[in-house]
Amino acid sequence: MSVQLGVPQWRGVDGGGLVPPPRPAGLPGGLLDRFGRQATDMRLSLTDKCNLRCTYCMPAEGLEWLSKQAVMTAEEIVRIVSLGVERLGVRELRLTGGEPLVRGDLVDIIGALRQKFPELPISMTTNGVGLDKKAQALKQAGLTRINVSLDSLHEETFAKLTRRPFLDRVLAGVEAAHDAGLGPVKLNAVLMRGINETESPGLLAWALERGYELRFIEQMPLDADHGWTRRDMITAAEIRDLLSSEFVLGPDPRARDGAPAERFQVRHRDPASGEAQGPVLGTVGIIASVTEPFCADCRRTRITAEGKIMSCLFSREEFDLLGLLRAGADDEQLTQRWQDAMWAKPKAHGMDHTGLGAADFVQPDRSMSAIGG
Ligand code: SAM
Ligand code: SF4
Repeated sequence: MSVQLGVPQWRGVDGGGLVPPPRPAGLPGGLLDRFGRQATDMRLSLTDKCNLRCTYCMPAEGLEWLSKQAVMTAEEIVRIVSLGVERLGVRELRLTGGEPLVRGDLVDIIGALRQKFPELPISMTTNGVGLDKKAQALKQAGLTRINVSLDSLHEETFAKLTRRPFLDRVLAGVEAAHDAGLGPVKLNAVLMRGINETESPGLLAWALERGYELRFIEQMPLDADHGWTRRDMITAAEIRDLLSSEFVLGPDPRARDGAPAERFQVRHRDPASGEAQGPVLGTVGIIASVTEPFCADCRRTRITAEGKIMSCLFSREEFDLLGLLRAGADDEQLTQRWQDAMWAKPKAHGMDHTGLGAADFVQPDRSMSAIGG
């Protein structure tokens, strides 16, 4: 049986998609949900397309891409971000995909957003392929910071995980982003059992030496192949254990402030005593979405590449914003739709983190690349 935690069952349909029920009148503004959370952090997907085929995300043959017509145009993106920032309390924007770098007008989109919002933090998550050629232009257009996904420093392992032999290109991209001033560069790594988990201390050492902030992300059941199992995933506890073969992790005094990653200060481990040795080398983050979920503090609102509102990565319902916009809706109607959609945000994603079964959890139809991770 599937339990959709607190997700209202009522809804209607218009044009291209689901319509959320209206939220009650008289509530405060912003993107408030029924559990008192205000979404201020917007993740916007620029495309569903990608040039890698990471095993935890896409099938080997790729997915059926959206038509160009279905995807938000640059103007529509600027309008939607503007509604979020000017009317709904959005305070930071992360561009994602699919792979944002495959969008030909990426630099123009960032430039247009920056011109309109000089102070808005705008970051981007990318697989880094082609970033070496675009990093300078992205910085000049006004991108604030970048996250690059990097699961392995070994060519073979990288190629096995991404199904493409592009490690060198990604490494060149990371370096170019750093040189262009898109730092602090954050690196995202997903560990897969039997493939790259033993690489984790080496990956951390490599990142620390270069001043990059590495974050390990627990593998989530958002792969198009539906191959995820609770038993096979590498948990946050295991990640901490793997890293402790070479490092001592201590609490980071900075407030977490709704961030998905729990940050730790990293020091060398003295092999003889097992104690921390020397100065703090930097920090590492662990995003434990499955085993240590942070749903109660979630501040995210998501817009897919075809302009659907998703209140959670694991939502099984998505509400149409772009269809309404294209039908000529005014700003008032659009903000109302967004507020209604967020009001319906589930309390939590419902993955059982205590046992092996995740019995009540139903994997969403969309894979990570199609949502915009
Ligand atoms: N293509 C870009 C990239 O890979 O960075 C941006 C989109 S990708 C969907 C965003 C992030 O989601 C990446 O860091 C990727 O590693 C992560 N991701 C994808 N599938 C995942 C899964 N099943 N579990 C955990 N993280 C996942
Ligand atoms: Fe593409 Fe990113 Fe998914 Fe990998 S994780 S297949 S790079 S969208």
